[in-house]
Amino acid sequence: MARIKLHDKYFVTSIPNEEIERAICGVGRQISEDYRDKDCPVFLSVLNGSFMFTASLMKSIEIQAELSFIKLSSYDGTESTGCVRQLLGLNKNIKGRNVLIVEDIVDTGNTIVELVKLLQEAGAADIKVCTLLLKPDSYDKEIKIDYPAIKIPNDFIVGYGLDYDELGRQYKDIYVLDSNQD
Ligand code: 5GP
Ligand code: MG
Repeated sequence: MARIKLHDKYFVTSIPNEEIERAICGVGRQISEDYRDKDCPVFLSVLNGSFMFTASLMKSIEIQAELSFIKLSSYDGTESTGCVRQLLGLNKNIKGRNVLIVEDIVDTGNTIVELVKLLQEAGAADIKVCTLLLKPDSYDKEIKIDYPAIKIPNDFIVGYGLDYDELGRQYKDIYVLDSNQD
């Protein structure tokens, strides 16, 4: 088991890359099936955390899809602040379009709620949610998470695009906060 140190904290391997890629292939196949006979969807990737997931998901789909990015922030260190800020706005006209949100992780769901509201106001015809990781014990919102690739317990994780105070995004495996911080 690999152990890494980011800032003041130690993390250990939790989900190996092969397992992540296999799960992404699974949702990619499902998305391809579901959208095959629909109007070309817009995949809306939520930066920064989902950059690596988005790249892998795009390679695993077998349909035509447009890609756009939005940047939101709700986390401060390892805690959700409950307040979602828009750092890079929606720069694409999505009126009447089928939108698939591509998230790195759904925790409390605050980000998803804000994002869906924003997309509804912008006139999206249909909104679905795809996420690499879902914390079912933390998520308590009404919005359906249509494509969760991997479900995890309520632990703080890093790697595969996810950071701890901006570090750790480059790792191809996912790491969890070590219960031993010595
Ligand atoms: P939510 O709004 O659902 O509570 O949180 C969504 C955002 O918080 C995610 O897009 C992600 O940026 C961040 N987040 C939630 N849980 C974790 C975690 O375990 N690790 C990291 N690095 N970020 C997280
Ligand atoms: Mg995110």
